[in-house]
Amino acid sequence: MSLFAQNKALAALLENSPSPAEQEGLSPESVRSALELGSMVLLGNPRHPGLKPCLIGQPAAVKVNANIGTSPLRNSLDKELDKLAVALEAGADTVMDLSVAGDLRVCREKMLAACSLPLGTVPLYAVAQRYIDAGKDPAGFSPEELFEEIADQAEQGVDFMTVHCGLTQRGAAWASEEGARVLGIVSRGGSILARWMRAHNKENPLLTDYGRLLDIARAHNVTLSLGDGLRPGAGADAGDPAQWEEVVTLGRLARQGLRAGVQCMVEGPGHVPLNMVRTQITGIKAACGGAPLYVLGPLVSDVCPGYDHIAGAIGGAVAVEAGADFLCYLTPAEHLTLPDRDDVRAGVMASRIAAQAGERALGRERALKREKAMSEARKKLDWKGMQESALDPIAVCAKRAEHAGEEVCAMCGEFCAVKMLRE
Ligand code: SF4
Repeated sequence: MSLFAQNKALAALLENSPSPAEQEGLSPESVRSALELGSMVLLGNPRHPGLKPCLIGQPAAVKVNANIGTSPLRNSLDKELDKLAVALEAGADTVMDLSVAGDLRVCREKMLAACSLPLGTVPLYAVAQRYIDAGKDPAGFSPEELFEEIADQAEQGVDFMTVHCGLTQRGAAWASEEGARVLGIVSRGGSILARWMRAHNKENPLLTDYGRLLDIARAHNVTLSLGDGLRPGAGADAGDPAQWEEVVTLGRLARQGLRAGVQCMVEGPGHVPLNMVRTQITGIKAACGGAPLYVLGPLVSDVCPGYDHIAGAIGGAVAVEAGADFLCYLTPAEHLTLPDRDDVRAGVMASRIAAQAGERALGRERALKREKAMSEARKKLDWKGMQESALDPIAVCAKRAEHAGEEVCAMCGEFCAVKMLRE
């Protein structure tokens, strides 16, 4: 049976006006066929109030996600809602609530109400948090509790969920064995599940009961973001057997999901040296049947704390050119602390720059048009035009403020090369 015949919620979303295809400048037929093939997904849970559905998968525009959420050391819902507003203003396309402190249900409810963009979560966090808050082992949960949490969040309106279904006992053992990796398992969800499998000596319930997960997801058109619990957390670990063991399983699960009427994306690395980014992206996409690839960075160097948004944007630009569809931002706070509102803004902008650079290299029409408009505005010393073409018009305005009335800028003043040649 076709994807649309099984997934009625998705079929209805596609009829939305203005249509998601029109908004991307793509034909409805091409979007429909990409969705059927699984190379594109349409994020949107009909239960999310006021939602604008979002297409992920090239040639739709490359999208940027901003992660927000409370932590036990910085637990303020108001601050997270403020960061959500900053992410929207800065041009993020989706937001993930990764909260692990406070009342997570209330937190999600408020974020869903405040966010017209698709909202993603990692349901495993809510399950583990209950155990940690009670002073118990986070691996103490039962599979039933996990599936109930997933169903509850789907009914609440969450649009996409990271589920680490591809993590196996074998993969976790490979990543953790003595001398195998510099940094072991760095994914929060991956480490909780690895601990669970070790404690219970059982296979990952998200893998063994994948059919149950598919039934929940299909009912609300929740897109599964098949998480990379074994993503490399150090450049030296990129491309090791544990990483690829999981990728192969994720590819199998993405195909199974599509056959069952469920949209799936695949999550990718992580820390990857620049010379390996292209092969990682093309390899993962091939192994996963072309499913949209959602990458964290990738970070091309491990020695940039304070500037990881830049290290991630360099990898992100190469990844987009190689076929990545969706960039998860990194902020200057990565590896150091919970991001504040300025970090969120810097992170979104860095990923948007990566997306623009990658799409320009791919010759995407909208990216080329924007580049051309900026060059033409510069030629005319048209500051308003420059502001309109800039990815961050607010930054242009702020930097220009002191000399806003001048024809030239304060870099060269009367030595302005553009003006000199024009005259
Ligand atoms: S003053 Fe210099 S930097 Fe500024 S617009 Fe003219 S040439 Fe460019």
